[in-house]
Amino acid sequence: MTDTYLNLVNSGFTKKMAKQLGLPRPAPLVRFQAGQPLVRGPVLVLAAASSGTDADAVGKQLLGWGLDVRRHASAGDTFGAVVLVLTAIAHPDELAEPVLATGATLRSLARGARVVTLSRVATADDAPAVAAARHGVDGLLRSLAKELRGGATGNGVQLADGVGVDAPSALGALRFFLSARSAYVDGQLLTVDTTAGTLPEDWDRPLAGRVAVVTGAARGIGAAIAETLARDGATVIAVDVPAAGEALAKVANKIRGTALQLDVTAPDAGDRLLELALRRYGSLDIVVHNAGILRDKLLVNMTPEKWAAVIAVNIAAQLRINEQLLVSGEFTRAPRIVSLASTSGIAGNRGQTNYGASKSGVIGMVRATAPLLTAFGGTANAVAPGFIETDMTAKIPFASREIARRASSLQQGGQPVDVAEAVAFLASPQAGGVVGRVLRVCGQNLVGA
Ligand code: NAD
Repeated sequence: MTDTYLNLVNSGFTKKMAKQLGLPRPAPLVRFQAGQPLVRGPVLVLAAASSGTDADAVGKQLLGWGLDVRRHASAGDTFGAVVLVLTAIAHPDELAEPVLATGATLRSLARGARVVTLSRVATADDAPAVAAARHGVDGLLRSLAKELRGGATGNGVQLADGVGVDAPSALGALRFFLSARSAYVDGQLLTVDTTAGTLPEDWDRPLAGRVAVVTGAARGIGAAIAETLARDGATVIAVDVPAAGEALAKVANKIRGTALQLDVTAPDAGDRLLELALRRYGSLDIVVHNAGILRDKLLVNMTPEKWAAVIAVNIAAQLRINEQLLVSGEFTRAPRIVSLASTSGIAGNRGQTNYGASKSGVIGMVRATAPLLTAFGGTANAVAPGFIETDMTAKIPFASREIARRASSLQQGGQPVDVAEAVAFLASPQAGGVVGRVLRVCGQNLVGA
């Protein structure tokens, strides 16, 4: 689906008119393209005085990625990214200097620039001043992201205590947020829980040698996930219902994968996925639970059928498939489960009690499933899309659709590939330390924080 308004306000006469009328002008986002630089300009690394050692380590790593790293801003600089290192702060007073220095750079950011904070998770075990400083980064980052323009985004990596800035997933998350792969992720803080995970040999093909299943892959977000995982090196089994067989075959052919016509609510769906993966490719390493349906009704009008259908596809099938994989003893090669949640499962949405329950259920499920996989170096995480331009959202009436599109910091809906990029990151070896988390891909949707 195309966003006509976005195209109009960015071209010719209508661009001028929109400017004069003061209308919102969403910027076209810069998305990942092979061969493009990781960041579109020099990277400025700023730090709280206490966090200098970590800032040095981060700067060294960025240099290793071939980036032009600066520790000070000079007049005339246009930065592709600002990395703000706050890992050792112990009092909110320490925020002023590095945060105001960041503010001074905001007028000279490149289009599609990135601001990324590196900080620590606040816990109840922290001294109150330490917790206040650490948790303060949350509100700071979310507010800062709302002030950025020109398709720039602000996101944060939050490290658990004991996880260094050089841990694989600290670097993996930092690189994801710096890159164009996170174009529609905005205002989010992703926690790195452990030092697990490994850095890929080739950052362009981190999934090489991995076998993935993607459900609901015939169209929309699922098709984009299948293509993105294949681009990143995975062999993909694309799954969808028989009625979508033709479209499914096209997706599978395009990526030289395998199509499997299967309703995910079948009682033996997990066993069948595993059997095919083992027989054809010798392993199953990544499962993306993307198949999902809507049956919206206000609760006062909800029918048992509509309630049951949504729960069956969106959450019960995922639980059953995971259980079958776990008991098989074959899902043990640093396995990854990535499930599609939704911002409706976080904030709730009128007319979506069934959908909200299922998507919130996904969030609970990944949190409780992740520990069952840690012994094998595995993880389970969720991606929560906001408004994404697909057949599903094309059915929303025009006025509500237009409001949903604009109600985010980036003032536009996301594309299926934006969700796929987040899924690919969580499925990668460099995300092994992200355990049971939810990553929103919503352009900092105003709904539900
Ligand atoms: P879509 O309706 O365009 O595609 C869903 C696919 O899942 C279809 O190909 C469908 O045939 C398949 N499917 C449905 N039931 C199935 C079953 N029982 N077994 C196998 N396949 C089945 O949807 P989409 O917009 O691409 O959404 C994909 C996922 O992302 C869903 O889980 C959805 O809830 C979630 N999501 C989407 C948005 C959005 O804005 N589009 C927002 C939040 C979450």
